Amino acid sequence: MERINAARALFEQFGLDVLLVQKSKNRRYLSGFSGSSGCLVITPERAALVTDGRYTVQAKRECAPDTAVLLQGASLWQTVGEVAGGAQRIGVEQDAVTYEQWGKIAAAFPGRQLVPVMLDGLRRVKDQREIRSIEEAVRIADAAFAKLIDELRPGMTELQAAARLEFFMRDGGAEGLAFSTIVASGARSALPHGQPTQKRLQPGDFVTFDFGAVYNGYCSDITRTVVLGRVDCWQKKLYEAVLDAQLAALAAVRPGIRASEVDAVARERLRQSGHLAAFSHGLGHSLGLAIHEEPRFSPACDTVLLPGMVMTVEPGAYYDGVGGVRIEDVVVVTETGCRKLTQTDKQLLEIG
Ligand code: ZN
Ligand code: ZN
Repeated sequence: MERINAARALFEQFGLDVLLVQKSKNRRYLSGFSGSSGCLVITPERAALVTDGRYTVQAKRECAPDTAVLLQGASLWQTVGEVAGGAQRIGVEQDAVTYEQWGKIAAAFPGRQLVPVMLDGLRRVKDQREIRSIEEAVRIADAAFAKLIDELRPGMTELQAAARLEFFMRDGGAEGLAFSTIVASGARSALPHGQPTQKRLQPGDFVTFDFGAVYNGYCSDITRTVVLGRVDCWQKKLYEAVLDAQLAALAAVRPGIRASEVDAVARERLRQSGHLAAFSHGLGHSLGLAIHEEPRFSPACDTVLLPGMVMTVEPGAYYDGVGGVRIEDVVVVTETGCRKLTQTDKQLLEIG
């Protein structure tokens, strides 16, 4: 009920009579229900999850006792309308419904006003239980990577390496993948989001792995770049420059600092080493039930960090036709600084 009451704080802010929660992550966060279909209806007095027959048993198991579970009638919106009663101002998640759905909701509430709202901000600060789930998702990914490294050899394809990594995560307890695994080798490592291909791993390749597990609904996200065979001098220099930026940014993460200031720390280090122009994305992002959440470590994000925010720190440098490096850890902001959840070592590994 604590979370639902936090959502009710929006009632005053937006003058709402009822709030309809449809985004699956927000629905889950507020009700506990992890199914993929339904609408959580929050009024000042009650909370009810309306869903269809595929999910009612599951919903009754997952929802807190103070959230009623209702089977939808002729249509989802008809039943939602009954729960909402005579509500005049209806909060609808603007970033969750399509234009078509917006029209259907408007038709179900004739003469009433739909008010666009965003709820993701409720999920910014994680509680201890959420942090433990993320920690376990990180541990599963760390353990999977250690197993992959044991069997990684030249001649394997990027797809085979991705498949092994995904197998080890699933085998180690992951409910699913946090996102499509990235494996990018050789010149392809210059693609920050290179999807794995049939390309075989070759001696001398940089290989970047970016992957994550889901545990209890919560995501992890880790990137490591390794070298197959012997490290070349340019590879060592590039890796050290990215690692230097990453360590400096990690050291800057603390409550009270703006997200953009942490991003600037990494950028300044990469400027000093001459790689700033090769850093083509933000420094990191929050994560939780979703793999990308607010706030972001980017020049544009002025959000002040708070204890309990969970962030990635992932600088990179990419040279088209040559290769690239990215190094990513997950940290939780503490009362005094941050605690790194990712345990995988960051020494540049020479493999095979
Ligand atoms: Zn990542
Ligand atoms: Zn990330």
